[in-house]
Amino acid sequence: MKLVTFARRGAARIGIVDSETNTVIDLSIAAPKLPTDMTAFIEAGDRALAAAAKAVQTRKKEARLLLSRVRLSAPIPTPRRNVLCVGKNYYDHAKEFDDSGFNATKGESAIPELPIIFTKAPSSVIGPGDPIPGYLDHTKSVDYEVELGVIIGKGGRGISKRDALKHVYGYTIINDVTARHVQADHKQWFLGKSIDGFCPMGPWLVTADEIGNVKKLRVESKVNGEIRQSAVVKDLIFDIPTLIATLSKGMTLQSGDIIATGTPAGVGIGFKPPKFLKKGDVVTLTIDRLGVLENTVE
Ligand code: MG
Repeated sequence: MKLVTFARRGAARIGIVDSETNTVIDLSIAAPKLPTDMTAFIEAGDRALAAAAKAVQTRKKEARLLLSRVRLSAPIPTPRRNVLCVGKNYYDHAKEFDDSGFNATKGESAIPELPIIFTKAPSSVIGPGDPIPGYLDHTKSVDYEVELGVIIGKGGRGISKRDALKHVYGYTIINDVTARHVQADHKQWFLGKSIDGFCPMGPWLVTADEIGNVKKLRVESKVNGEIRQSAVVKDLIFDIPTLIATLSKGMTLQSGDIIATGTPAGVGIGFKPPKFLKKGDVVTLTIDRLGVLENTVE
């Protein structure tokens, strides 16, 4: 199921994309008892999913909207807490980052022995088509990072690697936009990644049952049509079960938590000189089965 959040008549709503008819089913009309907030919907689990699946057959005309006419928000527009992120999680990117001179916390080895975790503020999230406010980076070093986003369904603490995928509700595309000089100058990975609008997400949340083997998905980015990053999820240094086990070891994961799993090689600072984003640049991110997330820098 492809789940979306969108605004209609001034209120946030949840919908399901019906790919056969290119329409969105407005669940607030087709199934009015369901939550209208995505995190609450996820928390309601299988029961809510079953009701939503039934709602696709709705005969209520006003519940069906043309997808092309719907202005989508991020699937989870206001996460309950920070987006959980993983640094240096593809081999080639780990090497390019250390070679770029922008890694102020550089250690002895480019390849981390354990997952590197940081977060992005919930207020950095924007939706598909929303402008990335590059002008908010006073250091003018805005960079893109395509990432597979994992959405947690059933929460928990001490989740084993073996059980981890049972806790995955679905997937989305995330652009971990980064102000590189802010990252390097302050020797941390939060400030330069939490700028307002620096976390484009979407276009939708695809439930895990529609994905099959997540390791096979190709992850790509383009800037103004020029391909920059291309890898498959199986190239992750730490796979999704390892990330969930690591994060939940001492911290309870919650329904609706978002994990940005890391970016492949080909980011702007991987080039010499670096190719930073500038006003008017169009960043197009694609992941198999998850659609296209496109945003323009302003
Ligand atoms: Mg990243």
